[in-house]
Amino acid sequence: MTTANRAACVIGWPVEHSRSPLIHNYWLKHYGIAGEYRRELVPREEFASFVTSLAARGYVGGNVTVPHKEAALALSEPDDRARAVGAVNTLWLDNGALCSTNTDVEGFLDNLDARAPGWDRNTNAAVVLGAGGAARAVIYGLLSRNVERLVVVNRTLARAQALQQEFGKRVQAARWESLDAALGDAALLVNTTTLGMQGQPGLTVDVAQLPEHALVADLVYAPVRTALLAAAQARHLRTADGLGMLLHQAVRGFALWFGTTPAVTPELRALLEADLGVSPRKAAG
Ligand code: NAP
Repeated sequence: MTTANRAACVIGWPVEHSRSPLIHNYWLKHYGIAGEYRRELVPREEFASFVTSLAARGYVGGNVTVPHKEAALALSEPDDRARAVGAVNTLWLDNGALCSTNTDVEGFLDNLDARAPGWDRNTNAAVVLGAGGAARAVIYGLLSRNVERLVVVNRTLARAQALQQEFGKRVQAARWESLDAALGDAALLVNTTTLGMQGQPGLTVDVAQLPEHALVADLVYAPVRTALLAAAQARHLRTADGLGMLLHQAVRGFALWFGTTPAVTPELRALLEADLGVSPRKAAG
């Protein structure tokens, strides 16, 4: 198959909310590639038959979103990242084999590298809020960058403890009540919970407890400038937002399907900001 007739898709239920078509169709147009990226609304009971017949449906691969990320792991040949995260968000066909990965890991790390180059040179301790799927990608990524100590703070302590068991001694589970104490020596704070997202309860963190060299990252991207990031910026701390991660996690899929490694540019970011309702004045990285 030539790149002229390649197609990829995002598979989910629901799928309307996905920003992936906006990102990939922008890149297709920008690089002059005559491919297509579509939405595929697929219910849980039809996912296995859909994903195992991607080639017959004219696809070279695709993204997977709720509720199919765990099912995709079992139905494909996952790499180490997808296995460690326990979920797949990117699929591609390689000589007929359905391969998979989880690009949230590199999306998170590449965004930190872009926003705060060299951040990992002095990040001995980090605090991760949340213990769900996104937290697993973040923890795996931070351990791969030699962060020595990770405190995972979660409403349901047992989920944080399960991550401690799985990822080893460098990860410590903690209750929400001990958050302030953990922030004192954290060079990095990452919110991986849904708190602060549109329609969800707010997130209250006393960023004054963080050291002045700290970097604050939020995975929430709707709104783009969360209350956590606004509070961190008001204290002149460095920040990395969820939109940056969303854009960076899309790079690998596009390269695998269409053969060109795309760039995350201010123009693409502005397109997504407009879609997410950010006024140009408020745009921040
Ligand atoms: P998930 O598996 O459902 O985990 C949700 C987490 O939020 C859990 O730790 C949960 O705590 C916590 N939480 C939910 N409601 C809470 C509340 N009222 N009080 C305290 N904690 C609460 O979700 P996920 O897949 O990890 O996604 C989490 C967030 O990351 C979402 O906002 C998602 O959009 C974002 N995300 C962004 C990107 C990106 O590219 N920017 C990529 C992936 C995910 P419990 O364990 O106690 O329930």
